[in-house]
Amino acid sequence: MKDVVIIGAGIIGCFLAYDLSKYDLKIAVVEKNMDVASGATKANSAIVHSGHDPKDGTLKALLNVRGSRMYEQICKDLNCHYEKIGAYVLACGAEEEDTLLQLAKQAENRNIPFEVHTHQEIVSREQNISDEVTKGLWLPSTAIITPWEVSCVLMDNAIERGTELHLNTEVTSIEKMNHGYRIVTSKGEMMSKVVINCAGVHADEVTAMVNPHPGFTITARRGEYFVLDHLKDPVVSIILFPVPSSKGKGVLLVPTIHHNLLLGPTSDPIDEKENVDSTKEGLAEVREKMHKLIKNVPMNQVVRTFSGNRPSGSTHDFVLEEDDLNPGFLICGAIESPGIASAPAISEYMIEHFVSKRLQLLNKNNLPALVLRQRLLSEMSDTERNDKISKDSRYGKIVCRCEQISEGEIVEAIHRNTPVLTLGAVKRRLRPGMGRCQGGFCEPLVLKILARELKLSLNEIVLEEAGSNVLLEKR
Ligand SMILES: Cc1cc2nc3c(=O)[nH]c(=O)nc-3n(C[C@H](O)[C@H](O)[C@H](O)COP(=O)(O)OP(=O)(O)OC[C@H]3O[C@@H](n4cnc5c(N)ncnc54)[C@H](O)[C@@H]3O)c2cc1C
Repeated sequence: MKDVVIIGAGIIGCFLAYDLSKYDLKIAVVEKNMDVASGATKANSAIVHSGHDPKDGTLKALLNVRGSRMYEQICKDLNCHYEKIGAYVLACGAEEEDTLLQLAKQAENRNIPFEVHTHQEIVSREQNISDEVTKGLWLPSTAIITPWEVSCVLMDNAIERGTELHLNTEVTSIEKMNHGYRIVTSKGEMMSKVVINCAGVHADEVTAMVNPHPGFTITARRGEYFVLDHLKDPVVSIILFPVPSSKGKGVLLVPTIHHNLLLGPTSDPIDEKENVDSTKEGLAEVREKMHKLIKNVPMNQVVRTFSGNRPSGSTHDFVLEEDDLNPGFLICGAIESPGIASAPAISEYMIEHFVSKRLQLLNKNNLPALVLRQRLLSEMSDTERNDKISKDSRYGKIVCRCEQISEGEIVEAIHRNTPVLTLGAVKRRLRPGMGRCQGGFCEPLVLKILARELKLSLNEIVLEEAGSNVLLEKR
């Protein structure tokens, strides 16, 4: 019998696993995909929003403000990337300026640092700002992270403290028993006293496994992006938002931790919750809307497009509760934006309000982190790097030239606590395939290394999910 089974290893499931693994509990995380952070957590703007935007009185407002204040220390503890680069919300004309001033008021009420700047003040900081922009709300506490990096290191730590992670394992039904729940998966069954549903776009369906009237539904809202290569002269060095509309935060420009630039996202409801195709129409909308905020975007530097699906809830707020009919069945549903920014606070809220009422939480290990993010050769001094190469020559063999990643680093990533089973997983750990050539040169080498380390044949290696085999037969 487990104490807690967490369904879904997105950033919410990973934070809960990390926080709960500090207590003396038997924990399992069940994830249907072949990697952690492979749902919404994989494809988003990666912004730790300051918390100025959600409506008063919502869980989104409460937990975004709290989460944003927690992140810097958490990333420091885990050695994960975190950069407080700041953001502008930009208004074009009198009507938008009114909305901008309301947001400023909201920021003031929530003790979030802000300043209101004129067009001239904004241009003196960011020279490519469009002439249409009349005012800007400057939010210096807005930060960027890499959500899948944080998720992986959280999970590395949870596993180090004894948490079981079951990848490629889908929860197909749940039955309430006298003392807990029977969770049936594609790979067998397990019993648990408490179940935490962190199933992203499927959280409504997973709740329906125990309650035919879950009280909320989830619509997937697709967001499409362009990714620009890292440039010698970046177009912008901070995040740019338009004023928000009923469709959300709008089309943004977001520098990433690794100095790429994201342009997007759109926000369109779609029927197939897992469909992350990019579309001609969506990308055209991004191009058109970004010009309102910025000029001189070198679109010939686009290296990729991608899209991600928001789990948008019918209640227009996060659903964080214990199911009415099922004590011990806990729900983290409808975690759309600002879900990344709020994630540490969502985990804290769930443990404080619900888990602690069902389980005795005895502290096992209060250390902040046992496992840190893998340190890369590019972060080492020449002496450290030479030392590493002299001990293992694979660190001297560069596999990905765009991002300068060696074979030794890839092998090290594959053998960390959180399993690396797919080419996509290697890419998210170390970035081979994320550079200008998009894997054109390095992918065959990464494929060989992965097959060798996992003791599989080349044609068993998949890109992301079961069935996405890269090679089909040997000729
Ligand atoms: C376009 C876009 C932009 C965004 N930008 C931001 C931003 O800048 N800042 C911000 O704060 N937030 C942002 N968000 C929101 C943020 O990405 C999400 O709130 C967050 O990633 C949700 O995390 P999660 O763990 O709840 O869900 P997910 O990451 O989707 O994880 C859920 C997991 O559950 C698994 N699962 C589902 N069903 C089952 C089952 N039956 N059995 C086993 N496993 C199952 C899935 O495979 C998945 O891995 C954005 C989202 C999108 C799509």
